[in-house]
Amino acid sequence: SNTRKPLIAGNWKMNLNHLEAIALVQKIAFSLTDEQLEAVEAAVLPPFVDIRSVQTLIDGDKLKIAFGAQDLSAHAAGAYTGEVSGSMLAKLGCAYVCVGHSERRQYHGEDDETVGKKVRQSLNNGLSPILCVGEELEVRDAGDHVSHTVGQLLAAVDGLTAEEMDKIVVAYEPVWAIGTGRTATPEDAQEVSAALRKAVADKFGGETAAKLRVLYGGSVKSANCASIMSKPDVDGALVGGASLDAEEFAKLIKFPE
Ligand code: PEP
Repeated sequence: SNTRKPLIAGNWKMNLNHLEAIALVQKIAFSLTDEQLEAVEAAVLPPFVDIRSVQTLIDGDKLKIAFGAQDLSAHAAGAYTGEVSGSMLAKLGCAYVCVGHSERRQYHGEDDETVGKKVRQSLNNGLSPILCVGEELEVRDAGDHVSHTVGQLLAAVDGLTAEEMDKIVVAYEPVWAIGTGRTATPEDAQEVSAALRKAVADKFGGETAAKLRVLYGGSVKSANCASIMSKPDVDGALVGGASLDAEEFAKLIKFPE
């Protein structure tokens, strides 16, 4: 047993306009009681342009749903056309920001150094990064998934204080399980999550590691959520596809029932 509150975060990716975004948050809110939203933390990560609408709804109705962004700039401010800074997200009330998602690494050339800078920008602005790590299929087939994933984590958190590390959420997302319908087994998720926690214990101490939330991501749905969440080092989920369906997302929040 531990004191970590489970976190279920919905990564909407490049889906929904602001009207659809509001409708989805309303449906999620209708489907869950305040008690359910206290037992498990729910967060939504809309596209940048939907964040203001979602914020207005959540703040106006005092909904117990956190929100955040899917990415942020590696820079603080200035001549970076098209970028969105951590301070802009913080000003909108974002609690979380996804950093280093495999789609950013794959399609936008983000390397460990860029991911580390984004972690720094998140923390400088009071945002909790949801730091995504995970191996490609070839890496798993070669048996290197643990060292690869731990390496990504250690590179991204290099130079942080233990206090800063307390703000970080780690998401283990094996690339071969994202959007493929192929989920890691609960044992796969546990193996890597335990290794990530141990790496944090070795670098930052046992107290920090005991508080660290490690999420699993990769084709999570209501049908497979509970068995993965039952593993001792898995503290929640980062959910893509299933987070766009209010009923499915609500079921994920209710997984312990
Ligand atoms: C993700 O993009 O973080 C993700 C886990 O996607 P999906 O649930 O669709 O596999």
